[in-house]
Amino acid sequence: MNEITRIGTDLHALVADEALLDLALQGADIAPLLMVLVHLSGEEHWLDEVGAHINGPWNFQESVPEALKQRVRVRVKEVLREYSLSGKPLPAEPPPALLRKMLAAGVGGPVPEEYMPMIVEETMLDDQDPKTVHWRAKPAPEVLAAFKVAIVGAGVSGLCMAIKMQEAGIPFLIYEKNKTVGGTWLENSYPGCGVDTPNHFYSLSFEPNHDWPDHFSKRDELWQYLERLADQYDIRRHIRFETEVVSAIYDEKRALWRLATRDATGKEEAGDVNAFISAVGALNRPSVPDFPGLKDFKGPAFHTARWDHSVDLKGKRVAMIGTGASGMQVGPTIAPDVEKLTIFQRSAHWAVYNANYHKSVSAGKRAAMKSIPFYSKWYRFQLLWASSDGLHPSLHVDPAWNMPDQSLNATNQKFRDDIIAYIRGQVNGDENLVAKVVPPYPPYGKRMLRDNYWYKSLTRDNVELVTDPIARIDPDGVTTKSGQHYPADILVLATGFDAQRMLAPMHIAGKGGKTIRDAWGDDDPRAYLGIAAPGFPNLFMLYGPGTNLAHGGSAIYHTECQVRYIMQCLRELLETGAKAMEVKQDPHDRFNEHLDETHAKMVWAHRGVGNWYKNKHGRVVTNSPFRLIDYRAMTEKLNREDYAIV
Ligand code: NAP
Repeated sequence: MNEITRIGTDLHALVADEALLDLALQGADIAPLLMVLVHLSGEEHWLDEVGAHINGPWNFQESVPEALKQRVRVRVKEVLREYSLSGKPLPAEPPPALLRKMLAAGVGGPVPEEYMPMIVEETMLDDQDPKTVHWRAKPAPEVLAAFKVAIVGAGVSGLCMAIKMQEAGIPFLIYEKNKTVGGTWLENSYPGCGVDTPNHFYSLSFEPNHDWPDHFSKRDELWQYLERLADQYDIRRHIRFETEVVSAIYDEKRALWRLATRDATGKEEAGDVNAFISAVGALNRPSVPDFPGLKDFKGPAFHTARWDHSVDLKGKRVAMIGTGASGMQVGPTIAPDVEKLTIFQRSAHWAVYNANYHKSVSAGKRAAMKSIPFYSKWYRFQLLWASSDGLHPSLHVDPAWNMPDQSLNATNQKFRDDIIAYIRGQVNGDENLVAKVVPPYPPYGKRMLRDNYWYKSLTRDNVELVTDPIARIDPDGVTTKSGQHYPADILVLATGFDAQRMLAPMHIAGKGGKTIRDAWGDDDPRAYLGIAAPGFPNLFMLYGPGTNLAHGGSAIYHTECQVRYIMQCLRELLETGAKAMEVKQDPHDRFNEHLDETHAKMVWAHRGVGNWYKNKHGRVVTNSPFRLIDYRAMTEKLNREDYAIV
């Protein structure tokens, strides 16, 4: 049943339940509710009246007068009653001119025409997923049955790939090293672990969750979401848990990948597949620095992604090394419990405030998501707009800018000034602390963090921020270069991941026995669209080189773009009976030149920044420099000319 029918059915119940309807209307944010009203009623005048008070996609709630909000709620109620009484079907997508006006009013600024296809896809107003790749001539069942695909990894990318392959009837087997699904959301369970992208956007477009408890939910919720997906689509029966792919070697004559796998008991197996899809992620191999003395630390010592929950932190002295996204979440969460938290910061990170970051989703808003027709869709659009490409232009270097070390351009400098003012407020004007936590490099040079009460935590009596570099780890603490010793009972390594050594530790050998390490070295991965590499036919990557999003958006958005593209590749192979497709060198090289040239003008390549995006030669290898809309356009349609298909 599609959602329009479902909403139509629920509408009678909603209208009959005055208390529920009032709760939902009261809990609804005004901008998406305005869009619902105009969508359902066609009454454009509301856009001018309410839209005049909406100045941007974030934090608009307070700027709309309460009396006006109330009028909108009352009118929505009337309109819903009219639909319920008349039995009239709900409208489909608004006509283009009205749609553009609605979008602009909803986010307080123009929404360019080029974004329409992306918005239509993400909102799925008719509940059909337009990103689904349909057969042009469905292969015979025996052709499908004989085509074997291996997916490595059952995190969000692997699950999304599996769902779309299952829908198309293409057989697959997932190899997953863990006991269950979830990938990064399974492995990371440190205190405070949660998502930094608004949840109602950080979820598959075709599987929205109207029950997120928070606007930025915590790890358990995200992991449970993925667990539910695996059950709902009955994916588990296609997963070999606790099994790693050790090697994948391409047999050119037969156009097959020979996989060697090892399970938890050490049992090894071999098998052939036609296509090999990596969904291994990039942030799951902990990076543990080689600190002198680390092995001799006598208390518990663990990485954030391998949190030891048997260790009680209460009343203990904890030393935490690292102040990135993981450290930002751990520090303030454990600070109230521990006797002393000593944080070792090698370089400062920028963090911004978001009004919703610590807020739960009210019962009313959840009711609105579930019961008010189209509300969840317009809400998703609004989040997409608030957190996607808006920042992108400001992350480019202005060659004429006169403070190039600290910012890129006037807008970036304004960010800098605003964040510094915010930090001052958080630390009660403690200028020593301000000097320690304000980075010298431009905002967004490292991944922008969300302030998780970080700055406030640093003002606690039991928290100390150390910026003196670490010299060694002692059995009972940490000693810095100046010779100062910081006693500690427990050591937490919030030191990030080995992100650039992509696809490691699998041994992958393509045509002519050339391995992926021969092609990429340790830390210089390159792929066409981040998906395919010359010399490695029928190998497709999800979240591959150059696809991490750092200006905004949701990693899941890119996943869905990549899944659509790979589905077209599989369709090409299956419908044409071709054995192999291999991206040509030329489009691959041109793509990577374009990627590098674009990066060179952007913030992540800034010479003053150390980040996990750059390899040891300073090349940005993990990130996409492109807007979401551009990457969508690049991956929307497979261009057969880019491939040698045999
Ligand atoms: P990270 O951003 O790479 O941070 C690692 C931290 O450890 C940095 O502060 C780094 O210092 C420090 N460090 C590394 N080696 C060190 C050494 N030898 N000595 C002293 N300090 C050292 O790692 P992360 O915090 O785990 O985050 C990684 C990525 O995972 C994020 O950027 C994000 O994409 C994802 N993530 C997301 C969330 C979320 O959505 N909320 C949460 C966690 C992680 P430098 O800065 O000087 O290098």
